[in-house]
Amino acid sequence: MLEIYNSLTRFKETFKPLHEGHVGMYVCGPTVYGDAHLGHARPAITFDILYRYLQHLGYKVRYVRNITDVGHLEHDADEGEDKIAKKARLEQLEPMEVVQFYTNRYHRDMAALNVLPPSIEPHASGHIIEQIAFVQKILDRGYAYVSNGSVYMDVEKYAKDYPYGKLSGRNLNDIVTETRELDGQEEKKHSYDFALWKKAAPEHIMHWPSPWSEGFPGWHMECSTMGTKYLGEQFDIHGGGLDLIFPHHEAEIAQSCAALGHESVHYWMHNNMITIAGKKMGKSYNNFITLEQFFSGNHPLLSKPFGPMVIRFFILQAHYRSTVDFSSEALEAAEKGLQRMQEAYARLQKIQPSAATNVEVNGLREKCQEAMDDDLNTPFVIAALFDSTRAINTVHDGKGTISEADLKELKDVWQTFAIDILGLRLEEQGADGGKQKAFSGAIDLLLNIRLQAKQNKDWPTSDKIRNELTALGFQIKDTKDGFEWSI
Ligand code: ZN
Repeated sequence: MLEIYNSLTRFKETFKPLHEGHVGMYVCGPTVYGDAHLGHARPAITFDILYRYLQHLGYKVRYVRNITDVGHLEHDADEGEDKIAKKARLEQLEPMEVVQFYTNRYHRDMAALNVLPPSIEPHASGHIIEQIAFVQKILDRGYAYVSNGSVYMDVEKYAKDYPYGKLSGRNLNDIVTETRELDGQEEKKHSYDFALWKKAAPEHIMHWPSPWSEGFPGWHMECSTMGTKYLGEQFDIHGGGLDLIFPHHEAEIAQSCAALGHESVHYWMHNNMITIAGKKMGKSYNNFITLEQFFSGNHPLLSKPFGPMVIRFFILQAHYRSTVDFSSEALEAAEKGLQRMQEAYARLQKIQPSAATNVEVNGLREKCQEAMDDDLNTPFVIAALFDSTRAINTVHDGKGTISEADLKELKDVWQTFAIDILGLRLEEQGADGGKQKAFSGAIDLLLNIRLQAKQNKDWPTSDKIRNELTALGFQIKDTKDGFEWSI
């Protein structure tokens, strides 16, 4: 049996991959029947940080994040219809058109958030044959039964041989009282048995042939199957949102033990949830805000548009195991924090070294490293970087000096931790990074022309540029090294 961990405290010392130098990680990906919202951004960013950090530590990482595109009654028991199939029927689309449409949009949103693409992104619908084989293995080992064309996990039998509920700390009695899955109750031996394969109802569009019926796999089956297919029967890390611990991940553990005789996952990692004004995000609260709405500001709960880097920064300001409460004010505060970091980063690129250092720059790399090592403590990394802005500003303002070696180290730490590991795009500002970059570049260009004009004592040109920019709302400050501007 693999020892199961569910945190990575003292990561560097305690994390032992199954194969030296290599890490296999699997993260439950999106169900693609709608636009990605804040609830999708958090796991994507959390595991992006882990992916980046493991690579920083020198591991070769195979990162698998799936696309759930089969559609499941479990996801929408109240409506009784597969969501992808429903959308396809209402909009007269082929189901895979719905899948492709939302997958493209998911990729677009993830790229905006600077989330790196996984190494493999398997679709559940592309792995039906493997899922059928996995179900067959569970049947062969006697932990499942066929009922009316569907296949169910025999949880009671399984729980006699393996500890069911160990990840979530539940026992069978807790599970009985919690089970809300009404579908198929009359076919099951016990309410807590879950579907490995479901016979499709006649109106169900997405179905495939199997030895038991024309139907579709149970939701939990795709992750057990694709995780072990691409990462091996045992692999290092499995991640997802806290809401997936039960039933999804508990069911995955049961499926692996039942089919393979052992667990598959060494470390489980779960990110906590995002609440909106203290409430869980959910259909009943009608408080979903899509990422696109954040970027455009087009939602009644938003005071203005918020750029993808603000969303990323907002999420990284909290530890991944803590809850995060969203509000427009909290995002405005995150935006200010990010701007301070962007300003410090821009200044860091401009400052000139001196013979000696008389500002505090020691220990920054160690502080950042220590924080990442302690279960990916991103808020501490951000705090340490903020601390170092004091030294940057002191040197920038001519009130302190920094040696060439210390400046190089400071730049390297910012590059490593802020840009490479936290994945913050600090060279861009504002809601629309690309446009903002072009805009800032154009203003810098104008002010450099003015600087040249001043040096040539061409006062009419220099004054014209400054006066007209001021009239447009810019504030221009002449400094020792050149200029600074703001709006
Ligand atoms: Zn999953």
